[in-house]
Amino acid sequence: MLPADKSLVIVGLSWGDEGKGKFVDYLAGQFDGTVRYNGGNNAGHTVKVRETTVHFSLMPAAALRGGLVYIAQAVVINPVILLKEIELVKKMGIKLDLRIDPRCHVVMPYHQLMDVASEAYKGKQQTGSLKLGIGFCYEDRTNRAGIRMVDLLDGRVLRRRLQQVWEVKRRRIERVYGSKFDLDLETVWGTFRRWGRRLKSYIFPVAEYLQDNFTSKKFLFEAAQGAYLDYSFGTYPYTVAYQTTAAAALTDTGLPPSSVNVLGVVKAYATRVGNGPFPTELNNRTGQYLQQKGQEFGTVSRRPRRCGWLDLVMVKQAIKLNGVSYLALTKLDILGGLPKIKLGVGYRIKGKKIERVPVGEKELGQVKPDYQVMPGWENEIQTVVSFRKLPLACRQYIQTVEDYLRVPIKFVSVGPERNQTLVKS
Ligand code: GDP
Ligand code: MG
Repeated sequence: MLPADKSLVIVGLSWGDEGKGKFVDYLAGQFDGTVRYNGGNNAGHTVKVRETTVHFSLMPAAALRGGLVYIAQAVVINPVILLKEIELVKKMGIKLDLRIDPRCHVVMPYHQLMDVASEAYKGKQQTGSLKLGIGFCYEDRTNRAGIRMVDLLDGRVLRRRLQQVWEVKRRRIERVYGSKFDLDLETVWGTFRRWGRRLKSYIFPVAEYLQDNFTSKKFLFEAAQGAYLDYSFGTYPYTVAYQTTAAAALTDTGLPPSSVNVLGVVKAYATRVGNGPFPTELNNRTGQYLQQKGQEFGTVSRRPRRCGWLDLVMVKQAIKLNGVSYLALTKLDILGGLPKIKLGVGYRIKGKKIERVPVGEKELGQVKPDYQVMPGWENEIQTVVSFRKLPLACRQYIQTVEDYLRVPIKFVSVGPERNQTLVKS
């Protein structure tokens, strides 16, 4: 199906929720292990296997396959969430082979307090953060004030690290943001020590293992979020606090620059959760149709996702940024029943054509897309079993997307299940 010689990175080409989780699950069986490489429990992957629907935020989606799964060093871990997901996998009777890099940073309760306090402080300008403390954990990681998984294994180190940062956190929350800081150092210490003991058996030198085996084995790398939530190339400041692109799969796991294949996942329409510019957004009944039919509500937050037409200008730029080798087009079934479907194929600001996604927040907010209008299809396609059996209008839609993007669409997804995946030759 895919060239068998290389490791593969799976990335989202929009604002996340493209259906990466489904494809990680679908393809994991062809690889020696799956590595989650960025983000924290702000991510949400939904995997559906027969009657069971499973939501993961930290556990690599491939865990349901019973294969080896790794959490690499750039992932930030909220231990209580990970412990819950571990229990969930075990309860399903699946053998869990999980390895966690000791360098992973830990999301602390004061990170969450700061997230809540800073969003309240920003008022109308808020990022739309899930208030899980992920961004603040990355801030500490970059600025050398973080606590790592390895620190949870040594009570003295953990206490010293907490004592070093505690006062600064308290003052920042109370005095800068004017919020309440009701944490007790000893209680936090005790709780995290306990969680450290429970996670100890999973801690493993992931980076070193991958380095030693990268040439002889093939790994699947699983990204959280999508290209336009990257903290540098996304729609800043409405982004996450780390990298979401494919190249990060190597630096974030501790691998040298090497060649991998990249599967870009694109939804057949666009969604965005949280605030920030969204040129092809539909604030009308069609948008509501997509939201309801596509069940576009956050995996973690249950917040409604904003919906719009597929924006090929953005996707094309994300393809360049990620070096995408193949595409998976997901949720095509949701477009069924619409009389007309539009594709964003160009950008204008005040009538003037522009070639790239503007960097400035204001400019991106002013963009008016040019649309190509395509005929819709009536029939439901969830039960279609081969690409050739898709309605003509649907195949035309796929072909138009592929011609514009100039990257082969390898997979078309017509439903959440593994077997609702059509291979396009
Ligand atoms: P991720 O964050 O990229 O892994 O995506 P999410 O799991 O957050 O969101 C995608 C949602 O769409 C999940 O609920 C999937 O089960 C579902 N899904 C994936 N592919 C398809 C598809 O082709 N059709 C339909 N109807 N649902 C899909
Ligand atoms: Mg998601």
